[in-house]
Amino acid sequence: MAKIEPNKRKPNTAPKFNIFWIYGLIALFIVGWGLFNGGGNPLEITWATFKNQIITSGDVQKVEVVNKEVVEVFLKPDKIKDWRENVEFRNIPSSGPQFVFTIGSLDKFEENMETIQMNIPDADRISPIFVKKRSLWTDVWSVFPFLMILLFTVLIFRSMSRGSGGGGGGVFNVGKAKAQMFDKDSKIKVTFKDVAGMEGAKTEIMEIVDFLRNPKKYNDLGGKIPKGALLVGPPGTGKTLLAKAVAGEANVPFFSISGSDFVEMFVGVGASRVRDLFRQAKEKSPCIVFIDEIDAIGRARGKNSGYSSNDERENTLNQLLTEMDGFGTNAGVIILAATNRADILDKALMRAGRFDRQIHVELPDLTERRDIFEVHLQRLKLDPTLDKEFLAKHTPGFSGADIANVCNEAALIAARGDKKQVERQDFLDAIDRIVGGLERRSTIISPPEKRSIAFHEAGHATVSWLLQYANPLIKVTIIPRGRALGAAWYLPDERHITTKEQLLDEMSATLGGRAAEELFLGRISTGALNDLERVTRQAYAMISYFGMSDTLGNISYYDSTGQSDMAFSKPYSDKTAQQIDSEVKELIDLAYERAKSILEEHRTQMEQLAEKLLESEVIFSEDVERILGKRPFNNTPEGVKSTESEVIDAQSEEVIA
Ligand code: ADP
Ligand code: ZN
Repeated sequence: MAKIEPNKRKPNTAPKFNIFWIYGLIALFIVGWGLFNGGGNPLEITWATFKNQIITSGDVQKVEVVNKEVVEVFLKPDKIKDWRENVEFRNIPSSGPQFVFTIGSLDKFEENMETIQMNIPDADRISPIFVKKRSLWTDVWSVFPFLMILLFTVLIFRSMSRGSGGGGGGVFNVGKAKAQMFDKDSKIKVTFKDVAGMEGAKTEIMEIVDFLRNPKKYNDLGGKIPKGALLVGPPGTGKTLLAKAVAGEANVPFFSISGSDFVEMFVGVGASRVRDLFRQAKEKSPCIVFIDEIDAIGRARGKNSGYSSNDERENTLNQLLTEMDGFGTNAGVIILAATNRADILDKALMRAGRFDRQIHVELPDLTERRDIFEVHLQRLKLDPTLDKEFLAKHTPGFSGADIANVCNEAALIAARGDKKQVERQDFLDAIDRIVGGLERRSTIISPPEKRSIAFHEAGHATVSWLLQYANPLIKVTIIPRGRALGAAWYLPDERHITTKEQLLDEMSATLGGRAAEELFLGRISTGALNDLERVTRQAYAMISYFGMSDTLGNISYYDSTGQSDMAFSKPYSDKTAQQIDSEVKELIDLAYERAKSILEEHRTQMEQLAEKLLESEVIFSEDVERILGKRPFNNTPEGVKSTESEVIDAQSEEVIA
């Protein structure tokens, strides 16, 4: 049984070898050589000085001709002091040659030496000694090109490996996992307190924390702890945050890596990175390894291997499976992985002994959103009257990350207005901005275009106001924002299943824009592109996914595994395809007619609404109420809860291209 001692870990302080050490050594060597050899530089002289003052003095010990071009003159050691008395020669060195000069030709030099020493007795004559010296500098210069080439190669490899993901350092490190490590010592301290809502997920994951804290309790009973848990949910719902909180609560190291980090263009790299990750993790055990977006490698293998098969990814996945089998249950390494597509993952990953636990993380509901706001509002200086419930109500469909973003954005907006605290309007602006993008007041729109946009939006507002199941309207604007030229903002119900009536009403409301253009302006425009796209998708989903067609009956061609490629082989006959198409057309035509008849019926009010919109650019539900009267029904959400997740999501903003 492995003993787990989280606090005993030797810091790895052994210095690592580095190529720059070699350069350092070479430089040191050169400098040292120079110092050792030198003792000062010989004085450079001319031939004339040599001839007139030096050679005739009789103080010369020897004359060396180096490499046939440099003459080095050595004085007798006991005479050097006398020579230094002459100002001209004050700096001659005490060892080595005292003078040097260069000669043009060797023959000429020998000849000259003979002549100038003619009068000197034979015994005292100096005859030059010829030596061949290899200077260090010539050596260095001869290897210099090679050194440069070496240097460049190293630099190129380094930048290459950095370009391909960074952190690796050196081309030989491509196989290393680039996991981000959060040690106990690092500042990141996330606990469950920082994770708002997600009660279900928290309780499930608490067990893992408990195991990491006291594994003995479980091992003594012979219980096996899951090796991994899979967090499933839409992006931004706090999966990474939850995994970090587990590490923080258990006070163990936390490795974070993204599934796409394993993928590289080189063959075999993914698998070797997986190996490396597990090796590192085992060294640090007990610890938590978090693999984000595991679907990048964990997608089901070999289903459509005919084309677009990716052997490299399969190898990586196989290695991951092997590693997860390979380490014992008690190794103290727990793998958490996150994905928003659990349905496309390879079944082998979900087998017992691997990710045998799935924890679903959903988009937060009203109370959870309020809690998330609580967490993120702590940092802000708030208007004390701010109602968090109100903020939660106005952010349906927002994820935790969106809410964090709203809070930050609101603070920025308040700061831009030189406010001392963040107020309600700042939050509303921030929400608008996140839903619809930035306001573009500078966009120039011609008056007829503006009229067209106003009628289009008024059409949406009118139809949705008068249909029972359409989403309640908040406001309508014709101020360009993001890619949209105008928008109607709704507050969608928080519901988990949608009825056919609701879908139909929403379709009519979506088509209200185009219907208004046709009825009131007598011409239609491209502005309805986004509406039409949404309606068409919805209609196809109703017929072929949700079984809402009378003639086709309760049939669904929805493929939750995402593996069969609908684009190439449809799971139904041509006849059925025709039937689906005609049903879709019928559905959309019906919805359009309904929208038109509602608008016909309320012609004057609709025109009033459009004029008001043209005048003030933004109108709120109160304005609509004044013109169209109170909504004749109060549709509170039914509060039906079901695990079925909604595939189609009717959102608010639209693009008028
Ligand atoms: P995911 O991994 O699911 O895509 P993250 O964990 O990266 O999402 O969440 C992004 C950010 O959103 C977090 O850093 C946090 O600030 C915020 N957030 C998300 N969910 C929550 C939550 N339940 N409570 C508090 N903050 C949250
Ligand atoms: Zn529209």
